[in-house]
Amino acid sequence: MTVTAVRPDGSREQLPENVLEELRAHLRGQVVAPDGADVATEPRVAWNAMHPERPSISTRCTGTADVVDAVGFAREHGLLVGVRGGGHSVAGLSSVGEGMLIDLSLMRGVQVDPERRLAHVQGGALLGDVDRETQAFGLATPLGRVSETGVAGLTLGGGYGHLNAKYGLACDNLVEAQVVLADGRVVTASAEQNPDLFWALRGGGGNFGVVTSFTFRLHPVGPVVAFAGAFYPLGELGRIERGWRDYVVGAPREVTSFIVTMTFPAAPGMPEVIHDRPVAIVGAVHCGDVDDGMTTLQPLRELGTPLFDLSQPMPYTAVQTAFDPFFPRQALRAYWKSQYLDELTDDAIDAIAARAADRPGPMSLANTFHLGGAVHDVGAEETAFPERSAPFMVSFDSMWSDAADDASAIAWTRSAWQEMTRYGNGTPFLNFTGRDDEPLDADVATAFGRNLRRLAEIKAVYDPENFFRLNNNVLPRA
Ligand code: FAD
Repeated sequence: MTVTAVRPDGSREQLPENVLEELRAHLRGQVVAPDGADVATEPRVAWNAMHPERPSISTRCTGTADVVDAVGFAREHGLLVGVRGGGHSVAGLSSVGEGMLIDLSLMRGVQVDPERRLAHVQGGALLGDVDRETQAFGLATPLGRVSETGVAGLTLGGGYGHLNAKYGLACDNLVEAQVVLADGRVVTASAEQNPDLFWALRGGGGNFGVVTSFTFRLHPVGPVVAFAGAFYPLGELGRIERGWRDYVVGAPREVTSFIVTMTFPAAPGMPEVIHDRPVAIVGAVHCGDVDDGMTTLQPLRELGTPLFDLSQPMPYTAVQTAFDPFFPRQALRAYWKSQYLDELTDDAIDAIAARAADRPGPMSLANTFHLGGAVHDVGAEETAFPERSAPFMVSFDSMWSDAADDASAIAWTRSAWQEMTRYGNGTPFLNFTGRDDEPLDADVATAFGRNLRRLAEIKAVYDPENFFRLNNNVLPRA
């Protein structure tokens, strides 16, 4: 069967069966050619149901050599290429329409070197894969808050999570990466080798090549950490968030904290008082001594009268999976928009509370994250990830299931974000950016700021023809 695949300019390439057979003969993994059909059979379907997946060819790679061959095949035939790590792109950046998907979901290996406190992680691993292996040694590296998210996209885009204040962003803990470049070469990026590429990978997204292996620095964490999870009535958000703000700015680095607003589902095992009820959840992790941590987190449990309080010493791996049930793959349509705030004023809090009250659906969230500590120890130009001073980020994360609600959910998100520009600095966090009709480079200039020029120069060195373009796309500029 001849397969038709699209090129970046929209023209089409015919790939006869014998050409695909040749690719199959090389790969240790699989070559699947659904030729434009929906790929519900992908081993790892994309998370955001708003972005349909119809790759003409999907290469399920098992190692670096497969990735080299897949890249070479796509280059030889001039195909549009998407790269999938965890498939959790909010913007649907690993969903390819009729092009070729380089799928790393079979590459989940994690190897821990406890002596040197390093973890070697394959490019398709999920956060939960890393936590599972590193926690066997009482170690961890800062990753995100939902265990099904991919290590690759999260790290390449910065990576916020429960350990940031003490240990920095995920990308700050990257010490080495193995990268398959657009021309098929395999290179190492580290402080010593290809340092320009290493700089760009720490925040610059998937622009520069396919990362087949990440090496992370590890820290002693857990196995039990102090966890705060106090559920307050959403109507009290204004007061709760003022108290939270005053607490977090003085909290020790062991504490990383956030507020999530949602209408809590009627989840089995959770008390009825919060079923189908709009709540503001004040969450925090203290990654040091557990008893000390519970004492330190106590004020977050007394910001008002919680409807329910989940706070307790908890296994770190349980904290890392606690939010998973709310974010199933391909079940939710999603559009998120975030921005940083240099100050969380009372007026900003009132605006957040007002938008939290007029959310269009139960899973439209208005979240506030406290940032700082080790994240701010790194200079804005030391890595490609430029935001190193704002103490807060607000993110409007809309999720819904019916396509008929697309317009209203997206409109709410955009208008809430627009209103927030009165209090925030307008700079988005690209990992928390959805896409409807926006072009791929929509937020790139604002998000990268001063670092964009250097990123464009590095792109010109490593990917001059913009082979890797399904990402927050930086155009090459020599
Ligand atoms: P994919 O969809 O596989 O890829 C995303 C982008 O990275 C694409 O451009 C892709 O081409 C590129 N890419 C993927 N793998 C590779 C690779 N091996 N080499 C080169 N490029 C690659 N972010 C946070 O910082 N903290 C959080 O706590 C957090 N929580 C989240 C929770 C949910 C439910 C969701 C949906 C997202 C969350 N995110 C969070 C955002 C997340 O980090 C980004 O969406 C990230 O891009 C997902 O990475 P992925 O590998 O899963 O995605």
